[in-house]
Amino acid sequence: MFATSEIELDQTALANNLNYIRKVIGKDVRLSSVVKGNAYGHGIFEFVPMAETLGVDHFSVFSADEALEVTNISMHRSQVMVMGFVDNAELEWAVLNEVEFFVFELDRLEKAIEMARKVGKKARIHLEFETGLNRTGFIKTDLVRAVEFLKKNLDHFELMGDCTHYAGAESIANYVRVKNQIKKFNKMDKWLRSTGLEPLVKHTACSAAAISYPKSRMEMVRIGILQYGFWPSKETFIDCIKHVSSREDPLRRVMKWKSKVMDVKEVNTGEFIGYGTTFMASENMKIATVPVGYSHGYARSLSNQGRVLIRGKRLAVVGIVNMNLLIVDVSECPGAEKGDEVVLIGDQGDNSISVSSFGELSDQLNYELLTRLPRNIPRTVIANETLTNQIPTNGLSKA
Ligand SMILES: *Cc1c(COP(=O)(O)O)cnc(C)c1O
Repeated sequence: MFATSEIELDQTALANNLNYIRKVIGKDVRLSSVVKGNAYGHGIFEFVPMAETLGVDHFSVFSADEALEVTNISMHRSQVMVMGFVDNAELEWAVLNEVEFFVFELDRLEKAIEMARKVGKKARIHLEFETGLNRTGFIKTDLVRAVEFLKKNLDHFELMGDCTHYAGAESIANYVRVKNQIKKFNKMDKWLRSTGLEPLVKHTACSAAAISYPKSRMEMVRIGILQYGFWPSKETFIDCIKHVSSREDPLRRVMKWKSKVMDVKEVNTGEFIGYGTTFMASENMKIATVPVGYSHGYARSLSNQGRVLIRGKRLAVVGIVNMNLLIVDVSECPGAEKGDEVVLIGDQGDNSISVSSFGELSDQLNYELLTRLPRNIPRTVIANETLTNQIPTNGLSKA
């Protein structure tokens, strides 16, 4: 291998996760697979076709450039929905290519309709409501104006949905806020329908909401982190396993990010390891260097915090994570040697590295670490031929 690390994507694990998610949401709720942030670091080009062979036919992205990547790689002409940024200049492209997009302000709405007139195709829009996140979304007074405008342009849009996004459904601390958001959304949805406009699907839930707030599932869920086999937070995980006796993690990591031991050596008691004085050997130790550092996506904040797997054992990162390498305490593995597989994220034997592996660091680290994995790490799909095309599509299917 030329690269210092590589990423394997396990189709069997993805099939397991999708089955689990479909079981949770039921057969009447559609699944949109969220693949923003280069499919949470898994790689849009590898992930999208793999998901499509497992019946996924709707993808959500943040921006037009990601939508372009999905449409370029899609084998089944899946629906693509942009939840965030589309420059006015790219609206024509979106309309022409039947890319759906959120509308949360009047200027985008007017430009979208203008483009729809120009190219003679309907703009496929989702009206986003402000319900309490205070990020994007129409407040009621602007929604009233949007509806007036839409009613004058009925031939130029398809109202694909109405939606909102929650302000932290992964934490019980936000329970009241999220509950209020659900109420507010339903009220605005009802009002919208009372005007005669009929959104095709109402959708509000991300992974955490879909697990912890069944009422947020509505007609479609937008699932990111769960499908990749990670939990939005420990709380969400506990919310989920408290109902099952086995207490086993129902998800499997799709990604295995792995490298190799580059070198091993002994360190005497009292010696500092790596730059500076952040780690001192309190006994005679054996350490291994791994050629992955922050320039390769291994967060510097994992200095003296990270865990990796070598020879099936969970081992600690010691000292500062450098630009190009990190150091692992392998004292527990006297046989560790150059060339041993090092798992940075994912499973090895019975052990697994995921969010909870990094101790009490922020839950958001999971998202951040994944999405910052550089694009130039080679990615390969470990396909499971017998799975391909056996899992039914959930909900509506594009004819
Ligand atoms: C990222 C995102 C999601 C998916 O979030 P997960 O926690 O990864 O499931 C859903 N909806 C919106 C608007 C998002 O930005």
